[in-house]
Amino acid sequence: MSQDLKPCPFCGHVGLEFGDGSSYRWGIAYCGQCGATCGEVRRRYPDDGKWHAEAIKEWNTRAPAAEPTVPAGMALVPIEPTQQMCQEGQWKAQEWPRFPLRIAPIWKAMVAAAKS
Ligand SMILES: [Zn+2]
Repeated sequence: MSQDLKPCPFCGHVGLEFGDGSSYRWGIAYCGQCGATCGEVRRRYPDDGKWHAEAIKEWNTRAPAAEPTVPAGMALVPIEPTQQMCQEGQWKAQEWPRFPLRIAPIWKAMVAAAKS
């Protein structure tokens, strides 16, 4: 490929595959790892592969992946707590040794650690 190829906005993979579009007259480029596609590109018959350059251009100008939206009052945290989150949670838990059911302050400390 002669043109610089932008990485996939979804998985970061750099490497396109080329395939059939909605009919033999159309071709698409897609991410070789996750299958994300760009818009269809017109191709000639017999297929001379010249449409690949157009497909790369189409790929490079596709809209970037949208940032995930997080509703107010919510936070995006990892499924598995990080070491820092566990540490913050344990420190907070030690502040209330006689009230082990007060989990909210512990959770807040863990989420704050996830955001940092
Ligand atoms: Zn991808």
